[in-house]
Amino acid sequence: MAKITLWYPEERPSYAIYDWDGNLLEEGPMLTADEVYCDLCNAEVPLNPAPMIGSYVLCLDCLEKIEPSWRKQISPLLEMIWREQMASE
Ligand SMILES: [Zn+2]
Repeated sequence: MAKITLWYPEERPSYAIYDWDGNLLEEGPMLTADEVYCDLCNAEVPLNPAPMIGSYVLCLDCLEKIEPSWRKQISPLLEMIWREQMASE
């Protein structure tokens, strides 16, 4: 079973490139906490916290495909919150 972790989106650069010494070389445009995209299908993810498996942020469709039993890993309250967030999108 793939373990789901929860991520609370915050403002961050869309990407960042570092050299071997850890110095920042290049940074992408800033994304707000509301701009979250699925790493698999690129769909907008209107969920906060957003589900992650490994280092991938997932929309509910992809989460369903990768981990069909995802509901067992989250609380009923969170599932309800996610449904409301999806509905208000
Ligand atoms: Zn997706």
